[in-house]
Amino acid sequence: MKKVTAMLFTMAVGLNAVSMAAKAKATEEQETDVLLIGGGIMSATLGTYLQELEPEWSMTMVERLDGVAQESSNGWNNAGTGHSALMELNYTPKKADGSVSIEKAVDINEAFQVSRQFWAHQVQSGILHEPHSFINTVPHMSFVWGDDNVNFLRARYTALQQSTLFRGMRYSEDHAQIKEWAPLVMEGRDPKQKVAATRTEIGTDVNYGEITRQLVASLQKKPNFALQLNTEVRGFKRNADNSWTVTVADLKNGEAEHAIKAKFVFIGAGGAALKLLQETGIPEAKDYAGFPVGGQFLVSENPDVV
Ligand SMILES: Cc1cc2nc3c(=O)[nH]c(=O)nc-3n(C[C@H](O)[C@H](O)[C@H](O)COP(=O)(O)OP(=O)(O)OC[C@H]3O[C@@H](n4cnc5c(N)ncnc54)[C@H](O)[C@@H]3O)c2cc1C
Repeated sequence: MKKVTAMLFTMAVGLNAVSMAAKAKATEEQETDVLLIGGGIMSATLGTYLQELEPEWSMTMVERLDGVAQESSNGWNNAGTGHSALMELNYTPKKADGSVSIEKAVDINEAFQVSRQFWAHQVQSGILHEPHSFINTVPHMSFVWGDDNVNFLRARYTALQQSTLFRGMRYSEDHAQIKEWAPLVMEGRDPKQKVAATRTEIGTDVNYGEITRQLVASLQKKPNFALQLNTEVRGFKRNADNSWTVTVADLKNGEAEHAIKAKFVFIGAGGAALKLLQETGIPEAKDYAGFPVGGQFLVSENPDVV
């Protein structure tokens, strides 16, 4: 089975449930330098950074499910776009004077290049496997119709040409050209309809779930890292020395609760992160809001379509 990611448009292992014995053991007085809450790409990435920068620190990752990368980071639960503003129209808002702002697009593209450097370094260090196992080239396209949208896409394309990061992008309003780029999108379309598209060959499809699994598997080889699955964070208490005592429940053992004392806590709980952050009571938790996002992904087993 192969997800249809031959082109991405802006149109609208599990690890075995084995926890490694580490400095941090699941006892009543469990202590760890860093507690990583959630087994997704965020905790896996921070854990990898810290392992390199502070190799002596003990780390405990707690995940309420029975494997890592099963929520948003799973390859089947997100679109896998390597976000670099090649096609995301919301990164180039229209200014009051009608011109298109590219600052955010440039920032995001640069940030993605840093991610790529980080992954390249992990490949060289033998922590990530060969790049095709988690990142592949996929053309990124934007497709619009109607006068206003076509004018916007043309202005966006022109503005992005100021930055070398977007030089490979192509723009077309020609039905035949766009049909060549995206045959299924053009099939049966009114030939008089005003359409436009941009296409960048060097877009990427990233399997964040695979990266998560590979990073966590590598962390698990270290004696000072522990992964505790089926373990749900329930509450926080700030201690006088600024450390945290975090209450966790063992979901495989009648939800028995115990405490983990940690110098640093990272809340990488995805959609549940904001609620947990608010439960800490720290003032930084104020003024954030969240809204639910869902997606439906189509699967094709037809190699011609793929
Ligand atoms: C439909 C959709 C499409 C997307 N498309 C893209 C895309 O194309 N490109 C892109 O870059 N990003 C995309 N994203 C966003 C991306 O998937 C997320 O930003 C990213 O995966 C979040 O990683 P995370 O580690 O923060 O969260 P997650 O991967 O969700 O991991 C959080 C983990 O925390 C665990 N957890 C929650 N509460 C607790 C608790 N109390 N105790 C213990 N564990 C807990 C959860 O079980 C989960 O495993 C998309 C997201 C969605 C929903």
